[in-house]
Amino acid sequence: MPKISGHTQLLGVIGDPIAHTLSPAMHNAALEHLGLNYVYVPFGVKSQQLGVAIAGLDALNVVGFNVTIPHKETILPYLADVSDLAQQVGAVNTVYRSEKGWVGTNTDVHGFLAPLRQQSYPWSEIAVLVLGYGGAARAVVTACYDLGCRQIYISGRQGERLEAFVASWPQITLHPLPWSERATCLENVSLVVNTTPIGMSPHTSATPLTAEDLAKLPATAIVYDLIYKPRPTLLLQLAMARGLQTFDGLAMLLHQGAAALEYWIGQPAPTAIMATALETALGREK
Ligand code: NAP
Repeated sequence: MPKISGHTQLLGVIGDPIAHTLSPAMHNAALEHLGLNYVYVPFGVKSQQLGVAIAGLDALNVVGFNVTIPHKETILPYLADVSDLAQQVGAVNTVYRSEKGWVGTNTDVHGFLAPLRQQSYPWSEIAVLVLGYGGAARAVVTACYDLGCRQIYISGRQGERLEAFVASWPQITLHPLPWSERATCLENVSLVVNTTPIGMSPHTSATPLTAEDLAKLPATAIVYDLIYKPRPTLLLQLAMARGLQTFDGLAMLLHQGAAALEYWIGQPAPTAIMATALETALGREK
């Protein structure tokens, strides 16, 4: 625990529910390691209190904060400025101060890309399948486009919502696939991203794609599951058994957090310390 004094500065995360968050463990470990007199705390904020809470965070001189479900999209009107990236995604997960007031940005895109950027892969030539069309899928689509991917399939279980998601990206051509047809593109796909909660603890025996589905993928394909509880999910276990390269959601969580911290403290984040803190916190939950 940091020694709280009259000089202690405040960071935090707003969401509802918030008790499950791993962000305080990751950020407080980093702040302590850097010897900074800051503390990062979880704030449970109900949707109907969002505006009051944001004004309150300002009045209390909070330095910056993260935003999680259900406020990532609804926070936009309460901010003085929103980065181009966050506007493109349509969601904010990190807020910092400027002379104008609160500025919202999105570090989920950077977090998602961090492990992929280390691969030398012909991104502009490959096809991607994104499972799910929720908030995380918006960051994933933006990220894949940024990587250079131009053939992006998106699959979800409600036809109207799927069409609405596709229509919300006038600048990107997305290929919608009904949920029952999600495996039909796999022969051509080199990156599969699960953005649904299928397989998340406690439903660990569920998977959005079967071993039979994964058998259709090229041998060089990557399977990326945004879930980090459990590690690995059944989807990733099946992909590993097939010999495919896999990534889970912990690297995304880590790198979105590191990028957020850098906005607030203006210096490089100690990612190795943050990774250990996350793994310890996850281990404690088991
Ligand atoms: P969200 O906005 O609620 O979206 C979830 C999506 O999954 C929706 O498209 C939903 O479709 C779909 N879905 C849910 N159950 C389904 C099922 N049984 N069959 C087919 N589709 C289903 O949530 P989110 O914020 O995008 O988060 C999604 C996942 O990503 C969660 O597991 C979250 O923990 C993870 N995540 C991880 C990170 C990280 O840093 N690693 C960051 C963000 C999110 P309907 O709308 O039709 O229900």
